[in-house]
Amino acid sequence: MDDTDRDDGRGRHGSRRHGSRRHGPATVDGTGLGTGTGLGTGREMTWLGRAARWHPDRVNGPEIHISFAPELDLFVPAPRRAGRTALVTDGASTLGHVVESLGVPLTEVGALLVSGEPVPTAHVPTAGEEVEVRGVRRPQEVPGAPLRFLLDVHLGTLARRLRLLGVDAAYESEDIGDAALAAQSARERRVMLSRDRGLLRRRELWAGAYVYSHQPDEQLRDVLERFAPRLAPWTRCTACNGVLTEADKDEVRERLEHGTRRTYDVFARCTACDRVYWRGAHHSRLDDIVRTALREFGGATA
Ligand SMILES: [Zn+2]
Repeated sequence: MDDTDRDDGRGRHGSRRHGSRRHGPATVDGTGLGTGTGLGTGREMTWLGRAARWHPDRVNGPEIHISFAPELDLFVPAPRRAGRTALVTDGASTLGHVVESLGVPLTEVGALLVSGEPVPTAHVPTAGEEVEVRGVRRPQEVPGAPLRFLLDVHLGTLARRLRLLGVDAAYESEDIGDAALAAQSARERRVMLSRDRGLLRRRELWAGAYVYSHQPDEQLRDVLERFAPRLAPWTRCTACNGVLTEADKDEVRERLEHGTRRTYDVFARCTACDRVYWRGAHHSRLDDIVRTALREFGGATA
């Protein structure tokens, strides 16, 4: 295992030199070079030179043992699943950096323990330490701001379903890029939801969570179970995330089809985009989503 780690470190340098991956794994070499330091450019040689200089530190670094909670298997390289394994670190990198370098986004880590005692991500491992990496506790609390979300560009269906349930879910169908998303998460104090591990590693994020499934039903259940947001169905615009206000029939009469005027009585209007909503039979699929969510996660607020 130790040899594997050392070789792995060198292998990464090699593959990153030629690689075009958007988000390569960080090195555990303690250089703080991070990703994207002139890869594929004329600066390659400089970078390699630095890597070579630092390499001896890796070889002589302290050996620790590390184990991961089973729910983190998805992120952890196969040989590191199912129990503790040895790992040679560089003696300078933080434990947070070491864990990230093994593929686990820190957004998915609940606690880091050394010999059973919690340590911060800034802890620098020393020789012989027994490190345990736990998953997040559910429901997860996100202190410091009201719970609200920002969804990555590939999560449009999830965004609309959260809004349907009254959960504040910002989303743009246009891809504004990782940097802009991370900045928005920080600025508006929103929990970034994404299936992109690279995005979840960005330091600017206010908070983040990996969305585990491709399937919207499971994605919704995952987020509701993880964060237990207060549910208030039919109070938010599914198109723009604006807050809905009651609208009486006279107010919206001229904008409704004749059949709608006759059949439905519950109307709402979006305070942001002015869309008109009404409750009717054609909403049965949405009713199903609301009913299921309230049954499973509505709790006292249902
Ligand atoms: Zn709206």
